[in-house]
Amino acid sequence: MIIIRTIAELQKLVTKLKHAGKTIGFVPTMGYLHEGHISLVENAKRHDEFIILSIFVNPLQFGPNEDFDRYPRDFKRDEELAKAAEVDVIFYPDVKEMYPNIMSCSVTVQKGVEVLCGKSRPGHFDGVATVVLKLFNIVQPTRAYFGMKDAQQVAVIENVVNDFNLPVEVIKCKTLREVDGLAKSSRNVYLSVEERREAKEIFVSLQQALAQIASGEKNPSAIKERISNYLQSQTSGIIDYVEVLAYPSLDVLETIQGELIIAIALKFSQARLIDNVTVTVQ
Ligand code: AMP
Repeated sequence: MIIIRTIAELQKLVTKLKHAGKTIGFVPTMGYLHEGHISLVENAKRHDEFIILSIFVNPLQFGPNEDFDRYPRDFKRDEELAKAAEVDVIFYPDVKEMYPNIMSCSVTVQKGVEVLCGKSRPGHFDGVATVVLKLFNIVQPTRAYFGMKDAQQVAVIENVVNDFNLPVEVIKCKTLREVDGLAKSSRNVYLSVEERREAKEIFVSLQQALAQIASGEKNPSAIKERISNYLQSQTSGIIDYVEVLAYPSLDVLETIQGELIIAIALKFSQARLIDNVTVTVQ
């Protein structure tokens, strides 16, 4: 495994790989790797010949009062995990390498951002779309692998790929969970012991919602209300949102039908956690 810190060096390698006819699987991350990230790598290895994993905590996607500075970072540990997972290249640029100057243009996401994390974190998806567009242009992946834990991000990136005709296939990967159902996340380290115990209730409430739908509930508000009541009674977290929306359009749903997402953001004292399930209802 090699570590590449400059765009020029990575582009040189990518040119060679393309000439050799290799397919490139790309896994973009912000580091502090866990099994969720590694599951994306495993997926990539099933499809692609050469695996590039990027580690870049992108300042553009953090708001002024968010956790950019204290986002967990541990490159040595990431390096070991990536090596064990047989990643071929870690692309590990610093902020100056990715943004040497204030950008003269950027991407503004216009659809699917008026809800969920787009609503709670204004500008977040502009930052995501901008860095992903840059990374896709640098890495030129055959396929790029994203986790459905960040389902809105997947929807936004699929739109970017379609809007700009990017020659990359986006592969959606399922959310990897702890034994008790909590979605694995770099931010879980910020939970206190008590909060960690409570955090499993997020997935419990999503499972209850799925059961409610399976037993015939057609009213999205009834599902949202039940989840909100449950989380308020079972956790000390503050609800940022509980939503039931069409997926991937993220349009408002009048009735439970078709492909939909049930999504939650819950704020604990030091960590805002997100989770979701998607389901298709005939
Ligand atoms: P992050 O480092 O949090 O930006 O995540 C990098 C990629 O890993 C994104 O595509 C995430 O959706 C994905 N990811 C994060 N957590 C999980 C998880 N628990 N299971 C599967 N994929 C995940």
